[in-house]
Amino acid sequence: MTASPKTALIFGISGQDGGYLSRLLLGKGYVVHGTSRDAEASAFSNLSTLGLRGRVATHSAALTDFRSVLQVIAKVEPDEIYNLSGQSSVGLSFQQPVETLESIATATLNVLEAVRFLAAPIRFYNAGSSECFGNTGEDPAAEDSPFRPRSPYAVAKSTAFWEVANYRESYGLFACSGILFNHESPMRPGRFVTRKIAAAAARIARDGGGTVSLGDLSVRRDWGWAPEYVEAMWAMLQRPEPEDFVIATGEVNPLSAFAEAAFSAFGLDWRAHVESDPSLLRPSEIRCGFGSAAKARAKLGWSARTRMHEVARRMALAERARLDGSPLDGLLF
Ligand code: NDP
Repeated sequence: MTASPKTALIFGISGQDGGYLSRLLLGKGYVVHGTSRDAEASAFSNLSTLGLRGRVATHSAALTDFRSVLQVIAKVEPDEIYNLSGQSSVGLSFQQPVETLESIATATLNVLEAVRFLAAPIRFYNAGSSECFGNTGEDPAAEDSPFRPRSPYAVAKSTAFWEVANYRESYGLFACSGILFNHESPMRPGRFVTRKIAAAAARIARDGGGTVSLGDLSVRRDWGWAPEYVEAMWAMLQRPEPEDFVIATGEVNPLSAFAEAAFSAFGLDWRAHVESDPSLLRPSEIRCGFGSAAKARAKLGWSARTRMHEVARRMALAERARLDGSPLDGLLF
C-alpha cells in the first residue's frame, strides 16, 4: 500500500518564496494549496513564470480575519502550513505601520489560534526575519542573539516570533520560525533594492547609458539565493521536534558590492551609473546584518550554496532577458 501524499497550505503563495516553495513541495509529491488576499484578482505571475499555475489549488484568505483563516484550513486539511504572507517591505512599513503589524502579527496569531482550535496534527512554519536582530555588529546573529528591531516591520516580525514560541510552549503545537536573512531571486518584487539594482543595470546596458538613484550604499547585508532558503523551511517541519533556526550565508557585503556585481554582469562600472539620493534614506537603518546558520547546518544539514556575487549576476541577467523577451531559463533556480 502506498502512503497518501502530504498536503501543504501556503499562505502568501503569490510571493517570491511561495513560488519556490510550491516548486519544491510539488517535486516532493505534495498536494499544494495556497492563498492570496484575492485569488480571483491575483495574476499569480510567479507561479506562471515557474510553470506551476495549473498545479496548485488557490484560495482567497484574509489572514487578519479569523473566520477566513479557519475556513481555509478546515477546507484544505493540511499536514503542513507555511505562513509566507504579510506586508514584507521594511521601507513601506514606515509608511504603513498598522497594516504591517496586523498583516504579520495578528495574522500569525490567527493561524496559531485556528490550528489550536481545530486540534489537528498540523505542522506550522512561520516566516520570521533577520530584521528582528537589528544591527548585528561584527559577530553573526544566531538563534540566541537578542532582538533589537529597528523598523515597524521588524517589530511586527518580533511579535510574531514570540507568538509562535508561546503557542509551541503553552499548547504543544508543532510551530517554528525560520529567522531568514535576505534571500533574493528574479521573483523579488520590484520595490526591493536588489531587484531595482538588477533592473537598472539591465536597462542601462541595453540603452548604452543612464543612472539609478539609491539610498545608503554603505549598509551591509547577508544575501542568499531564495530557492535554497525554501529548502530550509521544509526541513524545519521534518524534524522530530519544532525549533527555530537562523538561515543565512554568513557572508556580509555592502550594498555597493551588490551594485558592482550586478553592473559587472554587463561589463559596466557601477560608479558611473549609481547616484545616492538622501530622500531614499530610512528613518532608522540597520548598518550591518549577517547571520550564522551553524545550527541549521548541524540539525537540518542545510547550508547556503550560492553567494551574493552570483545572486546579483543571475538577477541582472534575468532582468535583461525580461527586457529582451527571452526565456529566463537557467536564471531562476
Ligand atoms: P513577497 O513580498 O514576495 O510575498 C509576500 C506575499 O504576502 C505577497 O505575495 C502578498 O500576497 C502577501 N502580502 C503582501 N502585502 C500584504 C499585506 N499588506 N497584507 C497581507 N498580505 C500581504 O515576500 P517573500 O516571498 O519574499 O517573503 C515571504 C515571507 O518571508 C514574508 O513574510 C517576508 O516578510 C518574509 N521574509 C522574507 C525575506 C526575504 O529576503 N525575501 C527575509 C526574511 C523574511 P497576495 O497579494 O497574493 O495576498
